[in-house]
Amino acid sequence: MPRKCSRCGSANAEVSLPYAKLSLCRDCFLEYYIHRVKRTVEKYRMFRKGEAVGVAVSGGKDSAALLHSLRRAFLSQKIVALHVNLGIPEYSDRCQEEAERLAESVGVDIYILDLKREENVSLSDFKRTIYKKKICSVCGTIKRHSFEEIAGRAGVKVLATGHNMDDILSFMLSSLFTKQWAQLVRLKPVLPPLFSWMTRKVKPLIKISGRENLLYCLYAGVPFTEIECPYSKGAKTKERLKALEILSMNNPNIKYQALDAFLEISKILEEKIKLPKATPCVKCGFPSRDGICAYCKRMAYVKEILSNG
Ligand SMILES: [Zn+2]
Ligand SMILES: [Zn+2]
Repeated sequence: MPRKCSRCGSANAEVSLPYAKLSLCRDCFLEYYIHRVKRTVEKYRMFRKGEAVGVAVSGGKDSAALLHSLRRAFLSQKIVALHVNLGIPEYSDRCQEEAERLAESVGVDIYILDLKREENVSLSDFKRTIYKKKICSVCGTIKRHSFEEIAGRAGVKVLATGHNMDDILSFMLSSLFTKQWAQLVRLKPVLPPLFSWMTRKVKPLIKISGRENLLYCLYAGVPFTEIECPYSKGAKTKERLKALEILSMNNPNIKYQALDAFLEISKILEEKIKLPKATPCVKCGFPSRDGICAYCKRMAYVKEILSNG
């Protein structure tokens, strides 16, 4: 006899969630997932009732599950999808297509920023520069800037991202080992804007694993692409998580405990450390240390290289 769902007791259980001591059928899993997203949003006061929310969608499973579940959890909220096309050959266009399909299936408007069209630069151009080995870091800088830009165009002051628990734990471990305290503090669930014109950054999936996001997309029929960014191959993030995966075998709660511990550490750190003061970039108004932000510096640099052939 197959095991029955621990919630409804009638359908067969398909998903086992050892940390919650639950075995659920598909429908109960979807309901449970949406309930947890809703609870996280409410617990950390990520957004208020009348606020429009921009959801950064990449085309991948995490942000797809985020957009779809937010739509279900907050039926009367104004929600829009935001997407950045970075111009990576054979990858970015595919991601954009999937993001558009997703927005259409969820029934929300999508705003797209095409880097190549707007700046005449694509992320791949950085492959020819001193950044070729730090392409993921350049990508992060460009995405932060571009999402802020389209959030402004879409008129939203809340930016929700699909960072899942595994991503966040991995960043937390790496910030800890490299003593990047400011970076660790920025991983908290709600990051208030540095300047008043900017968005509040929120992470509604901070307590949901990558596996659960994948199951959500599969069971709810949410469109997403599984193709991986050609530049992220061999990324160290998965390596760091292996230790936690091994520990999870004996204690299914360990990732949640680690996350809770980190969130507490980051609160203590935030009071102790002085974050460097940001001044607006003279070109774009974005936060900077010395008057020109990281985005404008990198753009000026790559354009110079491109113009020299
Ligand atoms: Zn059930
Ligand atoms: Zn700038």
